[in-house]
Amino acid sequence: VKTSGKNGYQFFDPAFYGAMRQRKQRERELQAAIVENQFVMHYQVRVDAATQRVVSLEALVRWNHPVAGLLYPDEFIPLAEETGMIVQLGELVVDTVCAQIAAWGREGCAPVPVSINVSSRQFNERDMHALFLQSLERHGIPPERVEIELTESTMIRDPERTSERLQAMHALGIRLLVDDFGTGYSSLSMLQQLDFDLLKVDKSFTHRLGHDGQGEILFTAIITMAHALGMKVVAEGVERPEQADVLARLQCDELQGYYIASPLDAVGVQGEIRRRQAA
Ligand code: C2E
Ligand code: CA
Ligand code: CA
Ligand code: CA
Repeated sequence: VKTSGKNGYQFFDPAFYGAMRQRKQRERELQAAIVENQFVMHYQVRVDAATQRVVSLEALVRWNHPVAGLLYPDEFIPLAEETGMIVQLGELVVDTVCAQIAAWGREGCAPVPVSINVSSRQFNERDMHALFLQSLERHGIPPERVEIELTESTMIRDPERTSERLQAMHALGIRLLVDDFGTGYSSLSMLQQLDFDLLKVDKSFTHRLGHDGQGEILFTAIITMAHALGMKVVAEGVERPEQADVLARLQCDELQGYYIASPLDAVGVQGEIRRRQAA
């Protein structure tokens, strides 16, 4: 309902109520989007730093808004988190990704694992172990085909319960990744105890490479420690060839970023995988 025009409610602070109304409106739209499943997943390849072969795909959600068009996570994940709708949205994401993996399998595509982002609230409010198990079973997918990306803050909140759940998922064969590594407060020993397989070093570190010597020093330290603790390292946000070169020289295991490939839709990413396999 619009309150503009000469007979509008002049006693309101229009800017404030405008923002409130817009937020409420977005909230209703998001709820409807979940019911109608207006979401689409894009996939970005992660490659082996030495061979450039695709090792995994990261699933990234987009909202196909009926009026505004394709919206990126920054425009709706925070609202979904605040309202708790992230739990339902997360269930939708896991199921959509599993359905896509099954569809790719039927089409005869190469069996590349897919990693799924799980936010802190989502992980702490929903039994992720059960959710993944149900979705994997429903679509007939082996657990080795999925990975889960968690940020350090997720583990800090309730280490004991988080640890139990993560161990149960790991025991199934689901690989565990730490997202945005270096921006939170976890210790490497905690990450090893929780049996993480891979550290995704935050893009802010990657972007420092080439600008000053500090970026290289930080990567060297992270890679040495992660390897000593039995974890692989991926650099995210690789945008330039020099960054890829430095990272390969530092024995960084895997790379992800616009320089390698942008996130693509389900059809596009399979083209990208085939192109790389043929190369
Ligand atoms: P993230 O998990 O750190 O994902 C990486 C983000 O960096 C993606 O943004 C990706 O498109 C972008 N990116 C990829 N390569 C480059 C690069 O070379 N340079 C730069 N500057 N950026 C690059 P996107 O898709 O907008 O997603 C933003 C965030 O939204 C994600 O950050 C993640 O935290 C969250 N998100 C995305 N999908 C989901 C989801 O399905 N569930 C949940 N809970 N969160 C999600
Ligand atoms: Ca991620
Ligand atoms: Ca990240
Ligand atoms: Ca390990």
